[in-house]
Amino acid sequence: MTQRILVVEDEVALASGIRDALTHAGFESEMAHDGAAALEAFKKSRFDLIVLDLMLPGKSGLEVLKELRTLRHEVRVVVLTALSDESDVVRGFEMGADDYMAKPFSPRELVARVHAQFRRKEMDSAPPPQLTLPGGIQVDLARLEVHRDGKILPLTPREGDILEYLVRHRDRVVTREDLLLDVWHYRNANVETRTVDIHIVGLRRKVEPEPAKPTLIQTVRGKGYRWYA
Ligand code: CA
Repeated sequence: MTQRILVVEDEVALASGIRDALTHAGFESEMAHDGAAALEAFKKSRFDLIVLDLMLPGKSGLEVLKELRTLRHEVRVVVLTALSDESDVVRGFEMGADDYMAKPFSPRELVARVHAQFRRKEMDSAPPPQLTLPGGIQVDLARLEVHRDGKILPLTPREGDILEYLVRHRDRVVTREDLLLDVWHYRNANVETRTVDIHIVGLRRKVEPEPAKPTLIQTVRGKGYRWYA
């Protein structure tokens, strides 16, 4: 099935450039030029990925992202941001963005990021569908849900991939580079270190009994992370 992408960007020329590059790469796409139109399009049809500009007139990109995640949490989201907006990027990740691109970028670079989102590493055995953690916390990786304190917290696809990777490699320290290459599928891992740490913080908030004193996703100083068991 052709992957469908919603491009949410108020700069019409940029949106059209992105759409043309996506079409050329074999994706189907639709455009929305403000947040309200984006949410309407999202409710009407199926999208596998959303390219979401954060600076939109009316409803901001972050507000749109928040609403998207309450509607459906398995869609992948790549946010577009001005280079100076690091705090927006951090908030975007906290709200469940999977990746970001800083402006200016070429549509070809964006297409490469979109491809990376759809390319999941071949797993050599079945994923662990359920994890039972201390504190009565249950994680359902197939459904991307964390059950704790009588509530269900959604995991983003990226968080699910990171958790699965850590659990799968519990016998060793997982470096940030491992995660960037194997989970993000970046071609080289000498940038973006913060991206990993931001996601780990978000994941700890959902799965750790005491997120401020993490015991499950342990930091190995100067090396990376290790799953507790
Ligand atoms: Ca904009």
